[in-house]
Amino acid sequence: MGDDIIKGNVINKIQGFYYVKVGENIHECKLRGILKRKDKKDNCIVGDIVEISEDNSIIQIYPRKNMINRPLVSNVDYLVIQFAGKDPEIDLDRLNTLILNSTYYKIDPIVVINKIDLLSEEEKSSLLERLNFLEKINIPLFFVSTYKNIGVDEIKKFITNKTVAFGGPSGVGKSSILNMLQDEEDLVVGETSKKLKRGKHTTRDSKFIPSNCGGYVIDTPGFSSIELPPIKDFAELISMFKEFTLPDDSHCKFLNCHHISEPGCLIKNMVEDNKISKTRYDFYKKVYEKLKVERWNNYEKY
Ligand code: GDP
Ligand code: ZN
Repeated sequence: MGDDIIKGNVINKIQGFYYVKVGENIHECKLRGILKRKDKKDNCIVGDIVEISEDNSIIQIYPRKNMINRPLVSNVDYLVIQFAGKDPEIDLDRLNTLILNSTYYKIDPIVVINKIDLLSEEEKSSLLERLNFLEKINIPLFFVSTYKNIGVDEIKKFITNKTVAFGGPSGVGKSSILNMLQDEEDLVVGETSKKLKRGKHTTRDSKFIPSNCGGYVIDTPGFSSIELPPIKDFAELISMFKEFTLPDDSHCKFLNCHHISEPGCLIKNMVEDNKISKTRYDFYKKVYEKLKVERWNNYEKY
């Protein structure tokens, strides 16, 4: 009995205490000294899967499948990239930038377009067409309206028992959807929640909020920006456009082709044959140029 492994996940962290959910119970834990590395903010973070001892010390942290910085959380299953069909208008570069970030941080993206109540049938189909590049790269797309309760159940079904982060520009209805996915009462669970509330430095964005379809939701301000992830070189960039993968037995005329303006480029051929979407290719070119000028210092070695 004494040797049983107690395994759970950290769902909140307040002033040196970690709240670890084990089944239906929440344990208030301390981090064992040996796991504390000086000057590290990410020794143990919300989302971590951990083992705790019977006296509520965290004694082991399991490897993370991913981690994001704002808020600092780990093991996120999906990033919902949310936009509105109108008010504000969709910015496809921004959408692709968020997809690039989710790929970089190893979180599967889902695209949610809210406020479809504002669109005519015609506008809806033209928007679907503009977004058909998502299907080619296997990113699920949901059209919803929180006003008319359209499509919300489909999202709930998709994210059942998952940990889901929400990102996107402001004004697209993120708070509206988050409110439909969480029940205030669920935040209050027995004794521990009093402690959770008491923490003066509790911020909404540093914890997992239980969702009403199992799992958790997280508001992620870090995924609203239009910043590119810190991609270090060309190889890393191209690895994030998975649809640009060429068959094993083929290559562009130039072995070090960057698929921009080189002759005999197979990627450009694929764009012409509509095997790669033009939206994605144009976005790739913009990112390439931007990184080259701003980050890679035009250094030819990449
Ligand atoms: P956030 O900034 O992304 O969190 O967006 P909010 O949830 O605060 O919503 C921004 C604005 O959009 C508010 O005025 C909402 O009432 C409105 N809104 C939210 N969902 C819908 C919707 O489905 N349809 C329409 N027409 N407006 C919506
Ligand atoms: Zn090429």
